[in-house]
Amino acid sequence: MLQVEKVSKSFDKFLAVNGADLLVGKGQLVAVIGPNGAGKTTLFNMITGQLKPDRGRVVLNGEEISTLATHEICRRGIARSFQIANIFHRLTVFRNVQVSVLSEQRKSSNIVRPAHAMAVEETNRILKSVGLLDKADHVAGSLSHGDQRILEIAIALGNQPQMLVLDEPTAGMSPDETQATMTLIKRLAETQGLTIVFCEHDMDVVFNTAQSIMVMHYGKTIIQGKPEEVRENRAVQEAYLGGEEDA
Ligand code: ADP
Ligand code: MG
Repeated sequence: MLQVEKVSKSFDKFLAVNGADLLVGKGQLVAVIGPNGAGKTTLFNMITGQLKPDRGRVVLNGEEISTLATHEICRRGIARSFQIANIFHRLTVFRNVQVSVLSEQRKSSNIVRPAHAMAVEETNRILKSVGLLDKADHVAGSLSHGDQRILEIAIALGNQPQMLVLDEPTAGMSPDETQATMTLIKRLAETQGLTIVFCEHDMDVVFNTAQSIMVMHYGKTIIQGKPEEVRENRAVQEAYLGGEEDA
């Protein structure tokens, strides 16, 4: 579904991403791992169009998208969340998601079913799917950090994406919140047929969740493969897992 081919990006003369590759099959749950500064966020920014690659290309369903604007990429079905949660703090949980659903449906509403009526059902459906329905009328800023990050995923779902790109979805969460969030992400992939790419620091989480893992180091892809292949790879052990990882 998604092919990232030899993309590079430099900031001034610093090569943040240096010929990285990533392959994502439809319905897959793919993790990108690597130390801080490896280039994960920059890579995600090139997939979703916040940044244009200097070299290489990003192909979605056979179409090159690396030249498109963010809203055009979004319309083709890729939605994302950011490393730092991006929500409307003073609006309710319901409104946060409804705004996103409405902006999607404005493109597809018709005379028979005005966008607004459709959005209520759809917003409730999304809130239910992420477990936030009982907090629909809470002000977003009053939610726990973990719930704010879940809300961000719900907002992304409002775009009716085929693919979600999640930058450290569990950053700053407690172990319990992390567990619950990863269970949710797995469930979204399984029940809604969503394709999900995420990056994450916790190796237990990554190896227990992802079907495919891509390891980045100094802006390059060291390997992409099944969790067992990645765990056994010497270059990965030396560069990243420190040779003592037995998770
Ligand atoms: P990661 O998400 O893996 O921690 P990033 O993609 O955020 O890595 O960053 C990769 C490298 O690029 C880091 O050294 C970072 O400081 C640098 N970098 C990222 N964004 C910018 C920017 N806008 N300007 C300058 N340097 C940047
Ligand atoms: Mg990052």
